[in-house]
Amino acid sequence: MSHNTDHCSDEYETRRLQALSDYDILDTPEDPAFDEIVELLSLICETPIAVINFIDRDRQWFKSVKGLNVCETPLDVSICAHALLKPGLFVIPDTTQDSRFANNPLVTHDPHLRFYAGALLQSRDGYPLGTLCVLDYHPRELSERQRFALQALANQVMAHMELIQAHRKQTKLATTDQLTGLLNRRAFEQRLDQEVALIKRGGDPTALMLIDLDGFKTVNDTLGHHAGDQVIERFTELCRETFRQADVIARWGGDEFMVMLPKTNMAEAQRAAERLHQRLATTPMLKNSSPAFYSTASIGVCSLTSASNMDECLQRSDKLLYQAKAQGRNRTVCEAQ
Ligand code: GH3
Ligand code: MG
Repeated sequence: MSHNTDHCSDEYETRRLQALSDYDILDTPEDPAFDEIVELLSLICETPIAVINFIDRDRQWFKSVKGLNVCETPLDVSICAHALLKPGLFVIPDTTQDSRFANNPLVTHDPHLRFYAGALLQSRDGYPLGTLCVLDYHPRELSERQRFALQALANQVMAHMELIQAHRKQTKLATTDQLTGLLNRRAFEQRLDQEVALIKRGGDPTALMLIDLDGFKTVNDTLGHHAGDQVIERFTELCRETFRQADVIARWGGDEFMVMLPKTNMAEAQRAAERLHQRLATTPMLKNSSPAFYSTASIGVCSLTSASNMDECLQRSDKLLYQAKAQGRNRTVCEAQ
């Protein structure tokens, strides 16, 4: 066996699994683009079985499979896991004649796999993620042309994965706020629009909360812009801790934040706002600042349920926030029921 010790180290495996996880491919639904590659490969190689699979920490997961009725298998019976150790194509003309596989249950028992040929699926940085492979119930070989097709289609699998990944990154960039990682205004408006449409068709009560930090300009003016950024980041953490997983938090702009709370009536939303005031009162917002620096926020809360459209709702939350500011800040004003 030509085990490269470096490639078998825990550290290498951790980096390999990270590379795999970066593609976000595991446990994703069927994709016709991958299914067509597998179908084409099976046609060209004239094999009953063709598979795209990825080697996870302790399982082999099939992204696309023709001719086998499985979606994942444990690693100890995986033939592909061996292919990961080799660059290029890995061909076993007869599994019963190969000491590594002769006792494999997939060879000795149903489905009695006798032939294997796999091409490595490699990440951009060269990490082996899985294989594109063909299998047969008889010992055999691949022609030169078939080998070429196997490698070319493996390249196409990776090219498609790169495209999906690039698209996902672009989408994330376009919808998130750089400083906080929260949704940006545009992305939040889209979510809100969907929610208003749902509610019109008789959904649960949903609350909308507009939050603005009090006297935030003073932080910038007296402690500097960097300190201001730190306060915004710390405030984001507090929001994440205060609101539920299902609540949607966005940076609306500057020191303004918007939260949509599904399945929440006014009384519950008011309690959530009070929790946020409490946290602000007890959490220093700047590291290494003496004396400790605390912030407060003003909040306007309205119900999405009675709103006829999104803009009306946003205007109402703005008015309520303005009232909270006018009444002396560090408070929440909820819409009258
Ligand atoms: P109020 O109590 O009425 O809300 O007063 P305020 O001082 O908080 O003023 P306001 O909300 O009107 O202004 C927010 C300021 O936030 C204006 C801008 O200079 C600053 N700001 C906006 N975005 C950023 C940012 O990303 N980082 C920092 N450090 N400051 C920002
Ligand atoms: Mg402010």
